[in-house]
Amino acid sequence: ADWMKPKPDVAYEPVDLQTDRPHPARVYDFLLGGKDNFPADRAAAEAGLKANPNSRIPPRENRNFLRRVVEYLATEQGVRQFLDIGTGIPTSPNVHEIAQGIAPESRIVYVDNDPIVLAHARALLTSKPEGRTEYIDADLRDVDRILNAPQLRQAIDFDQPVALMLIAIMHFVGDADKPYEVVSQLVDALPSGSFLALSHLTGDFDQAAWDRVAAIYAKQGVTMQVRSHEEIAQFFTGLELVEPGLPIVTKWRPDAAVDANATDTQVAVYGGVAKKA
Ligand code: SAH
Repeated sequence: ADWMKPKPDVAYEPVDLQTDRPHPARVYDFLLGGKDNFPADRAAAEAGLKANPNSRIPPRENRNFLRRVVEYLATEQGVRQFLDIGTGIPTSPNVHEIAQGIAPESRIVYVDNDPIVLAHARALLTSKPEGRTEYIDADLRDVDRILNAPQLRQAIDFDQPVALMLIAIMHFVGDADKPYEVVSQLVDALPSGSFLALSHLTGDFDQAAWDRVAAIYAKQGVTMQVRSHEEIAQFFTGLELVEPGLPIVTKWRPDAAVDANATDTQVAVYGGVAKKA
């Protein structure tokens, strides 16, 4: 189909994948059973699984949460614009597939700083003709760059609600990088009626296991900071969480796809959706 062809105005330059060290997007891909990962990523994932045998469950249930969130926002809140930061390697269904499956006119802007996600940008840009998808190669911490990107300015109408998606990304932003300022700067830029959807790894149920995983990642140059429920709730300051608040993700509007047997200790990811007044 015509809409599946890559857009001619997007330049695809060769991408340096930096395969010598693990990258969160590829470790996550490996844990989800994907193929877009390299020996360094698999080694980090295997070491993580040894340190915490439960670490395969969070990615799966997080991905399930992401799907339910987009379905909820599109169906029950009528959201038609999504800013998905920390996109990851395209894993079907992606945000645009879910949103445009409900409302084909939906517009999605993806942002990630990993070269492998950039290399997959074509797969993320297969918009339905009624809608639009864009990709920005940028670091979340560079908020001005994201907000001023032409892809964002052209695709998003700032008079209409936007869903800011920060799904399983903020635990890669350590306190030294001012995660709370970054999120509030982004939220401040959105019109009223917008939403923040955020999920985040927690050590609340087994701090020692997640400290071991974080130590393994740190040794290889990857920052990972799990946070408590209280710390994660702070990302929603000034916003109103929709029901049921900020539970472990398997308890956020669960459907048949949720693994009901997975314990909070195993899932270890809090998630919620909040509205900007
Ligand atoms: N949101 C997806 C993928 C989560 S994996 C999902 O929930 O399924 C985390 C993603 O965040 C990875 O793709 C990683 O490259 C990206 N990421 C981590 N730190 C980032 C940063 N500082 N700026 C932009 N992207 C970042």
